[in-house]
Parts: sequence; structure tokens; C-alpha cells
Amino acid sequence: MPVKIVRTSILPFRGFTAINLMGVLFVHPGVYLSNELMNHERIHTAQQREMLFVFFYMAYVVEWLVRLPMRGNAYRNISFEREAYANQRNLDYLRSRRPYSWRRYMKRTRH
Ligand SMILES: [Zn+2]
Repeated sequence: MPVKIVRTSILPFRGFTAINLMGVLFVHPGVYLSNELMNHERIHTAQQREMLFVFFYMAYVVEWLVRLPMRGNAYRNISFEREAYANQRNLDYLRSRRPYSWRRYMKRTRH
């Protein structure tokens, strides 16, 4: 799955390395794009496609808002992020990944 890369200092916001918007990866100029980082972002692209993009962003924001008052890091505990972080080191993950696999991460332990 090819990922288009746009280097800009405007996106993402402070504290984040990269943001994947509609399959386009925005990264700061100096950021090294490791295999792990690219795999993480490709997992997000797979999630976005199966959610027809718009439902991905809606679910992402809703889950983040729900998790904000909970213990742990709300961003890291979003199930889309859990799936991406848990599998980013497995560079073959996307070959065997089943659609909607992020659902299995909704109830995992907190970060
Ligand atoms: Zn992510």
C-alpha cells in the first residue's frame, strides 16, 4: 500500500511525529521514516480504507473523547492506535491482517 509523504512543519501538531490524513502522511522536515513508523502508518491507512475514511475519523475522535477522562494516555489507548503500535514491528502484519482487527484492541490493557 503506497503512502504519499508530505513534509511540512505545520502538521502534525506538537508532540506528534506524523499524522495520516486520508492516506497521505504529513511529517516534520527532519523526521526519519523508519520501517516501523511507515508500517504504523500503513496500518492506519488500512483501517481508514475499511472504515471509508469518514467513519474512521469519526470513530477515532469519539473514542479519544470517551477515553480522555479515563486513566492512561487517551491517544495511545484508542483501539486504532493500539493495533498500530502493537503490530508496527511486524513488517508482514498487513499481509495477514483481517479487516476490522482494531476491534480486538478495544478492551486491552491501558498504556
Ligand atoms: Zn498512530
